[in-house]
Amino acid sequence: MMQIPVIVVGAGPAGSVLAGLLAQRGVKTLLLDKATFPREKICGDYLSPGTVRLLDQLDLLDLVHSAGARRLRGMTITSPDGTTFQTEFPAITETNGASPFALSIPRAILDNLLLKWARGFGTRCVEGLRVTDLIWENGRICGVTGIGPTGQETYRGQIIVGADGRDSVVARRLGLHRPHPTLRRMALVAYYEGASELTDHGMISVGDRSYCILNPIGERLINAIIVVNQGIVQGRKGQLDELFDDTLQAFPLALSALRDTCRRGPVRCLGPLAFRSSRSAKAGALLVGDAAGFYDPFTGEGVGHALYSANLAAHVITSALAEGDGSLTEAHLDRFDDEQRTALTSRRRLGAALQAVIRHPGAANAVARLLRRRQPLAGLVLGVVGDLLPPRTLLSINTLRQLLL
Ligand SMILES: Cc1cc2nc3c(=O)[nH]c(=O)nc-3n(C[C@H](O)[C@H](O)[C@H](O)COP(=O)(O)OP(=O)(O)OC[C@H]3O[C@@H](n4cnc5c(N)ncnc54)[C@H](O)[C@@H]3O)c2cc1C
Repeated sequence: MMQIPVIVVGAGPAGSVLAGLLAQRGVKTLLLDKATFPREKICGDYLSPGTVRLLDQLDLLDLVHSAGARRLRGMTITSPDGTTFQTEFPAITETNGASPFALSIPRAILDNLLLKWARGFGTRCVEGLRVTDLIWENGRICGVTGIGPTGQETYRGQIIVGADGRDSVVARRLGLHRPHPTLRRMALVAYYEGASELTDHGMISVGDRSYCILNPIGERLINAIIVVNQGIVQGRKGQLDELFDDTLQAFPLALSALRDTCRRGPVRCLGPLAFRSSRSAKAGALLVGDAAGFYDPFTGEGVGHALYSANLAAHVITSALAEGDGSLTEAHLDRFDDEQRTALTSRRRLGAALQAVIRHPGAANAVARLLRRRQPLAGLVLGVVGDLLPPRTLLSINTLRQLLL
């Protein structure tokens, strides 16, 4: 059987972008995905300003714009007691004073676009193939097996990458997948048609230990997500539409933005959301995107992390192929794991801090009142959450001065 240099399991943003970057460098990559594209993906359809910056660096921004992505300049934020303020993404040095923006685009469109882009460089993708297991040889992964339309199939490769999302079979078979010990949150997601109120701002409503995000996408269409504790969904899995309507009552501003709209399609549910992988590189294989861990959709940076880790993996894989016998050495695996862990850890800490605020309505109200009074500080917070500024910005002297003034 022919040995393929790189096999990537999963053709979501992480897998397609990795395959495309490798193909651009002349590395043959085979993508395998259980879905047939275009496929739906439960998501907020939001690309943070940090993700937009990454798309630009990877020369993908024009492509995403050309598919009709909508620009967002900031967010309207409301806390449990109704304290509301609007803030814009802050201009940063890199943008020379120009206002950064986020984008919104349905994932079915985005993911199909990225896969087509990777195919444009000669990447092959086998669709409709569910990978079920890894092939081991001398303690290393050298292939995968899966079930396709015609039965069991086997693919052998020098380097195997798991880009198969939050329920990654590659991470599970490597023994790396860990559910989060305490955070048990579920997401309810629905689309609404006919909206006119939200234009170039998204809306985040924090409620009692829950939150709702409205993201305007396309022509008068809104993506609505409600994230709640698992207990609220238990026992009501068969009544998701009613559960969504009941839960939405706790978010008056969101309810008002959705008046005169009608729901398109059913409410979908996903969770528990948080899990992590104890390492993102093992036995000659790498994990990219959600396969390496996911915390919570509040910060809307999952696609950004997928692109970041795809880019990092492309660098590590091309140097491995150029240097030695073409396999990933322990040094390559450690370097990849360290760099990805560093990127994930600071975001995870930010996520944990935000979750702590959401869990305590009193704290959420106090933070909202402070940010409403201090607009520049609100912009900084949005810049950090949107991945434009590093989380340490919030501890800088400048920020502390703004807090005191
Ligand atoms: C409710 C919710 C809302 C979110 N909102 C946002 C948001 O607004 N913005 C944002 O940036 N991020 C958001 N995220 C996170 C974002 O969706 C993910 O971080 C992102 O999709 C990760 O990309 P990926 O390529 O790693 O994985 P995925 O996009 O999940 O792609 C994985 C691919 O692998 C395939 N696959 C899975 N298992 C197998 C298998 N066994 N064999 C073959 N193929 C397989 C799947 O079919 C899929 O195509 C949200 C997440 C949730 C849960």
